[in-house]
Amino acid sequence: MITVADAWTNPDLPWLADLVKRHQHLIKRRLEHGDLNRWLSALSAIPKIDNSARTLGRSVGLTAIPIALERPLEEALLGLTPWRKGPFQFGSVYVDAEWRSDVKWDRLCKHIKLDNHRILDVGSGCGYHLWRMLEAGASEVLGIDPSILFHCQFSAVKCLLGHPKAASLPVTLEEFDAGLMDFDTVFSMGVLYHRKDPINHLEGLKRWIKPGGQLILETLVVDGDDHTCFVPPARYARMNNVWFLPSVPTLKHWLGRIGFNSIECVDVSVTTPEEQRTTKWMRFESLEHGLDPNHNGRTIEGLQRPTRATLRAILPQN
Ligand code: SAH
Repeated sequence: MITVADAWTNPDLPWLADLVKRHQHLIKRRLEHGDLNRWLSALSAIPKIDNSARTLGRSVGLTAIPIALERPLEEALLGLTPWRKGPFQFGSVYVDAEWRSDVKWDRLCKHIKLDNHRILDVGSGCGYHLWRMLEAGASEVLGIDPSILFHCQFSAVKCLLGHPKAASLPVTLEEFDAGLMDFDTVFSMGVLYHRKDPINHLEGLKRWIKPGGQLILETLVVDGDDHTCFVPPARYARMNNVWFLPSVPTLKHWLGRIGFNSIECVDVSVTTPEEQRTTKWMRFESLEHGLDPNHNGRTIEGLQRPTRATLRAILPQN
């Protein structure tokens, strides 16, 4: 039977048990969520399925499953909505999440090398990109994200895939303490603009990168020079937790100031309703409700519409 603790259990990751022990008090606190029992019963209803047809490609999942198991699996996975990141597919059961996270991955994967890397993904959500990192050659991957629902979703996928070398802990970057452990690559995608302390966030990421290792940073940006950083007056595309929107030159300046070098911007893309939208698996409002229907370049608040940049930076050897 699948349970949320499967997210942070993996006998193939020798360092994991110690990390779990270090964060036990935080895990315990996150498990106090009022909806947890409902999600646990959805997890326990997931049928046992042979995982030999596993794929870590665009639609992460199993390319074929017995037809008789499709309906019970879909019901169980629908018990874990909203699915924000995906897609996942198990036979004909297509988990069409709010975000086409594969589109983000397409934009950046051609610019980065992950062969044999140990990776930390900060703000990993349900873990969609963790699977793609393994597909790209990473040897072991760890996600951290405070949401316990996303950990239930990650557990479901991890068990269905047959426990590849991935794990996730329900903690924030500020709470995370890996002791002496470090990572070849640290990702932070879609998190920085939610933080009120962007430089602290970048320092926190830097702390876990091994000398010579790389940071992959993806965040919302605005047009401008290295003096530009926009803080929305209130909501931004209807989101009420958006803080610092720097320009790409400002982001590079910040990364340089805190000690990164070889800083390059590998992509800038306007986010579209093809990439982020309401679906059967996420029924709430989505990007199109945050955009001005009469002005293609503006949010509903009259601000520059969401545009994301991906940067790569290297931590010097010393
Ligand atoms: N990285 C994914 C998900 C981005 S959504 C992607 O790019 O598609 C942002 C995620 O960051 C959410 O799942 C949220 O729970 C998580 N998050 C927010 N604050 C965080 C923090 N301080 N530390 C780690 N994760 C955080």
